[in-house]
Amino acid sequence: MDITNLYQDIILDHNRRPRNFRAMEDADRTAEGNNPLCGDQLKLWVRMDGDQIADVSFTATGCAISRASASIMTTTVKGKTRAEAESLFQQFRTLVTGGKAVDERPLGSMAVFSGVSKFPARVKCASLSWHTLRSALDARPDPISTE
Ligand code: ZN
Repeated sequence: MDITNLYQDIILDHNRRPRNFRAMEDADRTAEGNNPLCGDQLKLWVRMDGDQIADVSFTATGCAISRASASIMTTTVKGKTRAEAESLFQQFRTLVTGGKAVDERPLGSMAVFSGVSKFPARVKCASLSWHTLRSALDARPDPISTE
């Protein structure tokens, strides 16, 4: 099977049936992210158990890439520690900005976004959920920027 088609299928599936797509009532952290270039809007909820991400959920409007990225991101970081999530963020950023070869294994399904490195505008779409997660975990009032 053509790897590009396989990746597209995964992205379309997560866009159609996003995982963890709901508001969370007992969240202890929330953050919102916007990607004005494309019109993607994301709201993220996180519930921590000590240093571990016990639960994470989101709602979003926007393009298939941003919604699928958020869906896969939530399945990837659930159960991880903050440090592990930060490490995944760094690996994801390297992946979608291209250039360097990275070990895609820790990223799991996030590796499907390796193709977006050819499309700078799409990198913002794919990265929005990760920037928003980081803001939620940091719990700092920094504005979220996809720049
Ligand atoms: Zn987008």
